[in-house]
Amino acid sequence: MALIGDCIFCKIVAGLAPAHRVHEDDLTVSFLDIKPASRGHVLVVPKRHFADVFGADEESLLRVMANSRRIAHALKGALAPDGLAVHQLNGAAAGQSVFHYHVHLIPRRIGDSSGLHGRALMPASELAETAARIAAALRKSD
Ligand code: AMP
Ligand code: ZN
Repeated sequence: MALIGDCIFCKIVAGLAPAHRVHEDDLTVSFLDIKPASRGHVLVVPKRHFADVFGADEESLLRVMANSRRIAHALKGALAPDGLAVHQLNGAAAGQSVFHYHVHLIPRRIGDSSGLHGRALMPASELAETAARIAAALRKSD
């Protein structure tokens, strides 16, 4: 898979940068957001690099959405949130900060803040434990 410049998500896809993965297939990788808006905040990322929905190929988009649905069920099973927010930002004006297309899956609880971006890095041990729980829930649904 071609690396695009300094793109951090291309590096994660290629295994050149660390990430707490919950799922991978031929077209996508899904991993925990390093600065989560809530516990279990997952990013679903196509392996092909395109900045946003305007450069997207349909095959990648369809797979990202199919896997978002599967992972949504796994998040529900593993973490029992009250709700689940699905966000996808295009362009700096929309708040996008990493310019490699991705979908956010954010478990929500009644009364929590409704922000999309977390303020603090989550400790690696906590990310690892959360990723393991989500991955186990995904395997159960296979
Ligand atoms: P967006 O604003 O939609 O572009 O969201 C980008 C998200 O990527 C933010 O929520 C960041 O916390 C997250 N992020 C940035 N770098 C990493 C990384 N190395 N590993 C995991 N998540 C990251
Ligand atoms: Zn990229």
